[in-house]
Amino acid sequence: MLIDSHCHLDDYENIPAILANAKAVGVQQLLAIGIGNGPADMHVALDIANAHPDVFATAGIHPQEAHQATPENLAKLATLAQDPRCIAIGEIGLDYYHLDNPDIPTQHAAFVAQLKIAVAAHKPITIHCRTSELAIPAAKAKYEPADAWVDLLALLAEHWIPHQLPGIMHCFSGNEAQAASSLAAGFYLSFAGHPDRRPDRPRQPHPRRNRRSLPHSHPPPRPAQRTRQRSPHRTLPRRPPRHLTRSSSRTHHQQLPPALPFNPSRNFAPLAPFAFKAFAFPATAA
Ligand SMILES: [Zn+2]
Repeated sequence: MLIDSHCHLDDYENIPAILANAKAVGVQQLLAIGIGNGPADMHVALDIANAHPDVFATAGIHPQEAHQATPENLAKLATLAQDPRCIAIGEIGLDYYHLDNPDIPTQHAAFVAQLKIAVAAHKPITIHCRTSELAIPAAKAKYEPADAWVDLLALLAEHWIPHQLPGIMHCFSGNEAQAASSLAAGFYLSFAGHPDRRPDRPRQPHPRRNRRSLPHSHPPPRPAQRTRQRSPHRTLPRRPPRHLTRSSSRTHHQQLPPALPFNPSRNFAPLAPFAFKAFAFPATAA
């Protein structure tokens, strides 16, 4: 059994068909990320979860929409966070990649405000963090020398880690030291088929090195100079959850020694036991 720990079901209209396709390839349960196209529809993923027993949801304001972290929208998020099927806050974080993203102080404020909401609701977070490393020159000029990973870990140290709640570093793209810091802080690392995409960056953390790696069908970040359209994080084509098997097998199974039983979906269980006790894990799953 596979659990997709990060998919954007609200991108699709025929949800029953999407779920049927996912189940046909062994993806039994899904975490629908509730960022919508902005806070106005961050509730849509939860609506889907409430209509489908195998779907759980998050809610959050993506860093590219940080300028919309108004008191009203944060209040909406706090309300969504109370729903038992909203099992995490996210994806939230920092994104120093797109030239027209909100400025750094705006992103920091939105992130910290949402960390506080997650703490108050006692729910995990799922993190989006993207540096300007591969951005267009103008974006690099805008954000450098700031480093999104350095800033993110500093904000987490102050506002999140003392509360000892779990979280996911979604589509992890940091270096080995940042992976170690994240694991030490209780985070799980999710990989979307990209851990070996960065030959320019040696010693990228390898998923076989820990049992806190997770699968998801979200596409990895691309070094593309795309322009902002309707909503910046929507400029990348989404993969439907049925692609999780390909992504998961690439990042986990094929690279693992056959003697090491490993089920990345099983890793999901201890992440948030108070929320995930609904997930059923076959005792012999490997
Ligand atoms: Zn996402």
